[in-house]
Amino acid sequence: MKQTVQMKLIQEKMKPGVITRDGFLDPDRRNLIDILIEDDETVKRMGLSHQQVAQRMLEFRDAGMRGLGEFISIEPHFEVRVDSVRGKLPCPFGDPGIFPKTNVTVRNLERNEEITYTDLHIHLIGSHGFYEGKGSVFRLDPKSLVDTLEITGEEE
Ligand SMILES: [Zn+2]
Repeated sequence: MKQTVQMKLIQEKMKPGVITRDGFLDPDRRNLIDILIEDDETVKRMGLSHQQVAQRMLEFRDAGMRGLGEFISIEPHFEVRVDSVRGKLPCPFGDPGIFPKTNVTVRNLERNEEITYTDLHIHLIGSHGFYEGKGSVFRLDPKSLVDTLEITGEEE
Protein backbone atom coordinates (compact mmCIF):
# COMPACT_ATOMS: atom_id res chain seq x y z
CA MET A 1 0.00 0.00 0.00
CA LYS A 2 1.15 3.56 -0.70
CA GLN A 3 2.08 5.40 2.43
CA THR A 4 1.61 9.04 3.31
CA VAL A 5 4.43 11.58 3.57
CA GLN A 6 3.86 11.62 7.32
CA MET A 7 4.29 7.84 7.55
CA LYS A 8 7.48 8.18 5.54
CA LEU A 9 8.87 10.69 8.04
CA ILE A 10 7.99 8.39 10.92
CA GLN A 11 9.72 5.53 9.14
CA GLU A 12 12.88 7.68 8.86
CA LYS A 13 12.91 8.07 12.65
CA MET A 14 12.69 4.31 13.01
CA LYS A 15 15.98 3.72 11.25
CA PRO A 16 18.98 2.49 13.24
CA GLY A 17 20.85 5.23 15.05
CA VAL A 18 18.06 7.84 15.06
CA ILE A 19 16.12 7.10 18.26
CA THR A 20 17.67 3.76 19.18
CA ARG A 21 20.88 2.10 18.07
CA ASP A 22 19.13 -0.82 16.40
CA GLY A 23 16.11 1.08 15.16
CA PHE A 24 12.57 -0.26 15.11
CA LEU A 25 12.36 -1.95 11.73
CA ASP A 26 15.63 -3.38 10.47
CA PRO A 27 15.92 -5.76 8.64
CA ASP A 28 12.25 -5.40 7.61
CA ARG A 29 12.30 -3.38 4.39
CA ARG A 30 8.54 -3.06 3.94
CA ASN A 31 6.72 0.24 4.19
CA LEU A 32 5.62 1.02 7.73
CA ILE A 33 1.98 1.08 6.61
CA ASP A 34 2.24 -2.53 5.39
CA ILE A 35 3.82 -3.67 8.64
CA LEU A 36 1.00 -2.01 10.59
CA ILE A 37 -1.70 -3.53 8.39
CA GLU A 38 -0.35 -7.07 8.65
CA ASP A 39 -0.05 -6.99 12.45
CA ASP A 40 -3.45 -5.34 12.74
CA GLU A 41 -4.99 -8.21 10.78
CA THR A 42 -3.21 -10.77 12.97
CA VAL A 43 -4.53 -9.22 16.18
CA LYS A 44 -8.07 -8.85 14.80
CA ARG A 45 -8.07 -12.48 13.67
CA MET A 46 -7.41 -13.45 17.29
CA GLY A 47 -10.51 -11.46 18.26
CA LEU A 48 -8.49 -8.83 20.14
CA SER A 49 -7.69 -5.14 19.95
CA HIS A 50 -4.26 -3.55 20.38
CA GLN A 51 -5.63 -1.81 23.46
CA GLN A 52 -6.50 -5.15 25.04
CA VAL A 53 -2.99 -6.43 24.36
CA ALA A 54 -1.42 -3.27 25.82
CA GLN A 55 -3.70 -3.41 28.84
CA ARG A 56 -2.53 -6.91 29.74
CA MET A 57 1.11 -5.86 29.29
CA LEU A 58 0.47 -2.95 31.63
CA GLU A 59 -1.15 -5.19 34.24
CA PHE A 60 1.89 -7.47 34.30
CA ARG A 61 4.19 -4.47 34.58
CA ASP A 62 2.24 -2.97 37.46
CA ALA A 63 2.01 -6.30 39.27
CA GLY A 64 5.73 -6.91 38.73
CA MET A 65 6.74 -3.56 40.24
CA ARG A 66 6.26 -5.05 43.71
CA GLY A 67 9.24 -7.33 43.09
CA LEU A 68 11.66 -4.37 43.09
CA GLY A 69 13.84 -5.86 40.37
CA GLU A 70 13.37 -9.53 41.35
CA PHE A 71 11.04 -12.10 39.84
CA ILE A 72 7.76 -12.44 41.66
CA SER A 73 5.00 -14.98 41.17
CA ILE A 74 1.72 -13.95 39.62
CA GLU A 75 -1.26 -16.28 39.63
CA PRO A 76 -1.87 -18.72 38.07
CA HIS A 77 1.56 -19.59 36.60
CA PHE A 78 3.54 -16.49 35.77
CA GLU A 79 6.69 -14.87 37.05
CA VAL A 80 7.37 -11.20 36.37
CA ARG A 81 10.43 -9.04 36.85
CA VAL A 82 10.50 -5.29 36.31
CA ASP A 83 13.91 -3.64 35.90
CA SER A 84 14.35 0.06 35.62
CA VAL A 85 17.12 1.06 33.27
CA ARG A 86 18.47 4.60 33.15
CA GLY A 87 17.33 6.66 30.23
CA LYS A 88 14.16 7.51 28.37
CA LEU A 89 13.00 7.20 24.80
CA PRO A 90 10.66 9.29 22.68
CA CYS A 91 7.92 7.73 20.58
CA PRO A 92 8.91 7.60 16.89
CA PHE A 93 5.34 8.51 15.91
CA GLY A 94 6.09 11.94 17.31
CA ASP A 95 3.52 12.38 20.03
CA PRO A 96 4.58 14.18 23.19
CA GLY A 97 6.12 12.43 26.14
CA ILE A 98 9.09 10.21 26.71
CA PHE A 99 9.06 6.71 28.03
CA PRO A 100 11.26 5.29 30.77
CA LYS A 101 13.37 2.32 29.71
CA THR A 102 11.64 -0.09 32.03
CA ASN A 103 12.19 -3.74 31.11
CA VAL A 104 9.34 -6.08 31.96
CA THR A 105 10.11 -9.80 31.73
CA VAL A 106 7.18 -12.19 31.93
CA ARG A 107 7.72 -15.94 32.24
CA ASN A 108 4.85 -18.27 31.52
CA LEU A 109 5.85 -21.33 33.55
CA GLU A 110 3.17 -23.55 32.09
CA ARG A 111 4.12 -22.86 28.48
CA ASN A 112 7.82 -22.50 29.33
CA GLU A 113 8.01 -19.19 27.47
CA GLU A 114 9.51 -15.84 28.33
CA ILE A 115 8.97 -12.42 26.84
CA THR A 116 10.58 -9.03 27.58
CA TYR A 117 9.14 -5.64 26.75
CA THR A 118 9.44 -1.98 27.70
CA ASP A 119 7.09 0.90 28.50
CA LEU A 120 7.64 2.15 24.97
CA HIS A 121 6.44 -1.21 23.58
CA ILE A 122 3.24 -0.88 25.62
CA HIS A 123 2.69 2.60 24.19
CA LEU A 124 3.56 1.62 20.61
CA ILE A 125 1.11 -1.27 20.71
CA GLY A 126 -1.70 0.46 22.61
CA SER A 127 -1.58 3.77 20.73
CA HIS A 128 -0.23 2.81 17.31
CA GLY A 129 -0.75 -0.95 16.86
CA PHE A 130 2.99 -1.16 16.16
CA TYR A 131 4.97 -4.29 17.12
CA GLU A 132 8.20 -3.34 15.25
CA GLY A 133 9.63 -4.78 12.04
CA LYS A 134 9.94 -8.50 11.36
CA GLY A 135 13.34 -9.76 12.43
CA SER A 136 14.16 -6.60 14.35
CA VAL A 137 15.82 -7.04 17.75
CA PHE A 138 12.91 -5.75 19.81
CA ARG A 139 9.97 -6.96 17.74
CA LEU A 140 7.13 -8.48 19.76
CA ASP A 141 5.34 -10.93 17.54
CA PRO A 142 1.63 -10.35 18.24
CA LYS A 143 0.76 -14.06 18.24
CA SER A 144 3.61 -14.96 20.65
CA LEU A 145 2.71 -12.03 22.87
CA VAL A 146 -0.93 -13.09 23.07
CA ASP A 147 0.02 -16.74 23.68
CA THR A 148 2.69 -16.08 26.31
CA LEU A 149 0.65 -13.53 28.24
CA GLU A 150 -2.54 -15.59 27.69
CA ILE A 151 -4.51 -12.59 26.52
CA THR A 152 -8.15 -13.45 26.04
CA GLY A 153 -9.75 -10.03 26.02
CA GLU A 154 -12.08 -11.07 28.82
CA GLU A 155 -12.27 -9.26 32.11
CA GLU A 156 -10.35 -11.04 34.86
ZN1 LIG B 1 3.29 7.44 20.22
